[in-house]
Amino acid sequence: MKICPVCGNSVKGRKDKIYCSEYCKSAAQYENRLINEIFFFKVDKQLKTNRKILKTHNKDGYTTLRKTVLLSKGFNPNYFTHLWKNPKGQTYCFCYEFGFLELIGQDKYLIVKWQDYMETNQNRLQ
Ligand SMILES: [Zn+2]
Repeated sequence: MKICPVCGNSVKGRKDKIYCSEYCKSAAQYENRLINEIFFFKVDKQLKTNRKILKTHNKDGYTTLRKTVLLSKGFNPNYFTHLWKNPKGQTYCFCYEFGFLELIGQDKYLIVKWQDYMETNQNRLQ
């Protein structure tokens, strides 16, 4: 016998039925929507936090900073909005208009601001 994942009652009727009632079915759908929204807000919040931190530390449009300075403020490099590859083949991660590049072996990030010419270079990524 199948058990309803929402209320634990037995599920009667068609074999492919998952929930015991319409009520439980819509409750489950509602919960799924909520979970998706929580994920969306979590990512959205992190992206905005990253942007704010990059913006605060981006002096003169081009700054080198120790990783720990950003990380201690809540910066999470796994969250970014888009990528840009420079002619040298280095890939910058951007959070909106502020980008960062991990300087390998230096424990530092290079912070830059998005420039108009980067838009036309976007194809390089493909
Ligand atoms: Zn149920």
